[in-house]
Amino acid sequence: MLKKNFEEIEAKIQAACDRAGRKREEVTLIAVSKTKPVELLQEAYDLGNRIFGENKVQEIADKYDRLPNDISWHMIGHLQRNKVKYIIDKAEMIHSVDSLRLAEAIEKEAEKKGITADILIQVNVAKEDTKFGVMPEDAGGLILQVSKLPHIRVRGLMMIAPFVENPEENRIYFRRLRNLAVDIGENKSDNVTMSVLSMGMTNDYEIAIEEGATMIRVGSGLFGARNYR
Ligand SMILES: *Cc1c(COP(=O)(O)O)cnc(C)c1O
Repeated sequence: MLKKNFEEIEAKIQAACDRAGRKREEVTLIAVSKTKPVELLQEAYDLGNRIFGENKVQEIADKYDRLPNDISWHMIGHLQRNKVKYIIDKAEMIHSVDSLRLAEAIEKEAEKKGITADILIQVNVAKEDTKFGVMPEDAGGLILQVSKLPHIRVRGLMMIAPFVENPEENRIYFRRLRNLAVDIGENKSDNVTMSVLSMGMTNDYEIAIEEGATMIRVGSGLFGARNYR
């Protein structure tokens, strides 16, 4: 089943790239494996997948220890400041930075480890009460402050689109995030590039690709429905 899911999604990614006149290599598939057992991740690994997304610190730490060490782990969930230390040297990228205080905690732990952390700024594009993320109008200001932290590189923006029946309804939000990245990219500052747009999940990744996504985060479409979260 897993093999078939990967093949189907791969075909849809390719088709969306073709429609948008984009190259397949411009889009990275992050296999979101939260709540799924390591055996299933190992199966995905054996099929060739090396990029996994998780939303809980404890779960990344556990799975990191139990799976091969050439996996790239992406932290895509809300992150508490006091837990940064557990994943700072395990996560390839942290997608969910939405405050200066969190960025400062990442800076501190990255400095201790002598590394530079790659992060994305999470933007609440649709301004939903229930979602984390900085408001779009505040993103530029936050990034300017974060850019002063020497052990952090801001690589782009991330968003979680509203839950909708018809994924077309999210096209406008994907487009807004891309436009925001273009605007922010024009104010060149140190340690900041806007090369990554992390947007699109199982329901809407094809639309997100058409609108410029460079990372899509697909969970249930690959691994099946989750019982929780
Ligand atoms: C769970 C999750 C996903 C994947 O969601 P699916 O709808 O299962 O593809 C993507 N991004 C984030 C931040 C998530 O928490």
